[in-house]
Amino acid sequence: MTTIAIVGAGLAGVTAAQTLRESGSDARIVLVSDDEHAPYDHPPLSKAVLAGDDPAEKALLHEASWYAEHDIELVLGAEATTLDTAAHTLTLDTGTEITWDQLLLAPGSTVRRLDVPGADLPHVHYLRTMAQSTALRDRLAEHGQVVIIGAGWIGLEVAAAARAHGCEVHVVDPLATPLERVVGPRIGQWFADVHAAHDVTFHLGEGVEEILEDGVRLSSGTVLPATTVVVGIGVLPRTDLAEAAGLEVDHGIVCDGALRTSAPDVWAAGDAASWDHPRFGRVRLEHWSNAKDSGAAAARSMLGEEVTYDPVPSFFSDQYDVGLEYAGHVPRGVEPEVVLRGDPATNEFLAFWLDGDRVLAGMHVNTWGALDEIEPLIGTTVDRDALPG
Ligand SMILES: Cc1cc2nc3c(=O)[nH]c(=O)nc-3n(C[C@H](O)[C@H](O)[C@H](O)COP(=O)(O)OP(=O)(O)OC[C@H]3O[C@@H](n4cnc5c(N)ncnc54)[C@H](O)[C@@H]3O)c2cc1C
Repeated sequence: MTTIAIVGAGLAGVTAAQTLRESGSDARIVLVSDDEHAPYDHPPLSKAVLAGDDPAEKALLHEASWYAEHDIELVLGAEATTLDTAAHTLTLDTGTEITWDQLLLAPGSTVRRLDVPGADLPHVHYLRTMAQSTALRDRLAEHGQVVIIGAGWIGLEVAAAARAHGCEVHVVDPLATPLERVVGPRIGQWFADVHAAHDVTFHLGEGVEEILEDGVRLSSGTVLPATTVVVGIGVLPRTDLAEAAGLEVDHGIVCDGALRTSAPDVWAAGDAASWDHPRFGRVRLEHWSNAKDSGAAAARSMLGEEVTYDPVPSFFSDQYDVGLEYAGHVPRGVEPEVVLRGDPATNEFLAFWLDGDRVLAGMHVNTWGALDEIEPLIGTTVDRDALPG
């Protein structure tokens, strides 16, 4: 019998296993995760679960019985430590060795760590796993003073959850506006305004010098009082296993357009996979939709289907009463023009990022259904008067 091993039981790995079964594969499927928890989704961990609105179980991808029902061998709490692509074996830290015919690497990302004095103090939190989310939720429920380092998606969503708990919230970032690298200064300022309206205080253009037992010292010398510090300064793809096995790695596990890695019979998907996108060049995405879609695409590719993985990148976020979806990709170095439809002050508008007449990206805020109009425009040339909204 063919054995398919999958490293990582996040959204990409679980979707791949599900797609294999739904496509009629009768292979032995072994799904390995170093997390102790049954597989779960990440977005609720910084939103409803963190805010205390939903129990952590709501984030589970499937009921516990689903894996056995689909004849998927779920191995939890075991890290795959050695991959031998010549011998087709995967060794776990439990000592188990799995001999595979095909392998999918879906190891996701790990948080970037802050490297300043005091960064390992016990009141410093990171947010990636379910255990980290519930620990932080319990801490926020104590209504203290929270300093969030990093005004990216995680930092802003944690700020909203912390305000929902009634905490005093300060957000520190070296850039001039939140999310500046993703949405640029104009829309970044809108995010700052949304949070300021919920009494979040920003310290922008500031670095962090040191974390103290009761505060955070900024580069300006200001000390912000803090009972809880949350670090959200980005993630790094988990490429260690692939790299040690001699696979090609370049800020991600290098794949072709069908998600095949440089080693025969080995595929990659999710946050860790960097692939040849027919329209956008080499791409690696840390988005929910990519984890789901690439897991499914890799599974089809493993089954021998001709696959060209060609999605329009998209992601979503929820903060307070603001829900948004963004599609497209603004390459580094491009300074696009932002065209707005509607008034951002109403928290209901569309934004487009244009390079000349070409639409690089679009976003809607609280305009549900608009993503269906935005996505087909990405990469096309438009008459800007004809932009929807
Ligand atoms: C808190 C949070 C909120 C988010 N919110 C949003 C959002 O609102 N919108 C959006 O678009 N995206 C969001 N994302 C991003 C999105 O969830 C990720 O892109 C997606 O989860 C990636 O899925 P993945 O399967 O590639 O990796 P993961 O979900 O990280 O899964 C990989 C799994 O593999 C395990 N693993 C790694 N190496 C090994 C090994 N050697 N052996 C065994 N197991 C291993 C890891 O422990 C992990 O459990 C969020 C992410 C986080 C952390």
